[in-house]
Amino acid sequence: MINVDFSVGIAVYVALVLIGIFFLWLFTKKSKNKDLTLDSRYIWFCSICTYTYINTKEDVISVCPRCGNYNKKSKNS
Ligand SMILES: [Zn+2]
Repeated sequence: MINVDFSVGIAVYVALVLIGIFFLWLFTKKSKNKDLTLDSRYIWFCSICTYTYINTKEDVISVCPRCGNYNKKSKNS
């Protein structure tokens, strides 16, 4: 009886730790993905001077701050 209770306790403890690690990993992975999608949405790449810049205001067309070229966002989903 004692052995069964002990092994059950160990199993529950290990399961709780694993679940905790899993949720921690899931949370960090989620936040990383969120940052990545936010970054890729706002990062613009100029086709004329190959200048990479960040514009969070525009969605479709933005002006390159270096050469003034109008860059259109290619929507490859
Ligand atoms: Zn440019």
